[in-house]
Amino acid sequence: MSASKKTVLIIEDEPHIALGLRDALEFEGFEVIDAGRGRDGIHAARASSPDAVLLDLMLPDMNGYQVCEELRRWDSFVPIIMLTARSQETDKIRGLDAGADDYVTKPFSVGELVARLRAILRRAARVPEQVERFTLGAAEIDLSAHLVVRGSARSELSFYEVELLRLLRDRAGQPVSREDILQKIWGLDASPTNRTVDNFIVKLRKKIEEHPDKPAHILTVYGFGYKLVPS
Ligand code: CA
Repeated sequence: MSASKKTVLIIEDEPHIALGLRDALEFEGFEVIDAGRGRDGIHAARASSPDAVLLDLMLPDMNGYQVCEELRRWDSFVPIIMLTARSQETDKIRGLDAGADDYVTKPFSVGELVARLRAILRRAARVPEQVERFTLGAAEIDLSAHLVVRGSARSELSFYEVELLRLLRDRAGQPVSREDILQKIWGLDASPTNRTVDNFIVKLRKKIEEHPDKPAHILTVYGFGYKLVPS
């Protein structure tokens, strides 16, 4: 790895958790910035462009969903991992809807969190050798620029949307199982579920398909997973 340290922004109001994370991440060689309030976290993200964000769901001034949406307004790509005390599926889906890439449920092991963070950063650091462009119907996709252009509509792709699309594209024409997607993209078999995959597929279809409800390119393979069909 390069000598430049990766910077992680921790937005967490519980001091013992923030401190525990800071210690573990610094020990692992990360640069750490922390913020105890949502608003401060948003400012810190703008000021320092971190390589990844760990975002608590319950903050004193804003909730994590709002912070996430705010962060996504100006950076569609920085990986965001939500730290949630809630184990309910709807809360996780809501977090992913707000633009989070991943989540861990408290109490989490710091080891697991660091492993997830490393996996995300390893992928994010993989600078494409060549421009990764292809078309699906009327949608022009540029994975290296994290962009989909369809007619006059221009949508940015989040980190995992790029990863998911790349995986499906690499296996175009073949069904890819949800389990395979989870394992390949999220890497660890902890919190993300099949619903996570479905949620990301819905988001991709909205950006790519002319009729997201009747997709022509990102097809469901019932009871199994998904298949990408080029034009
Ligand atoms: Ca909290």
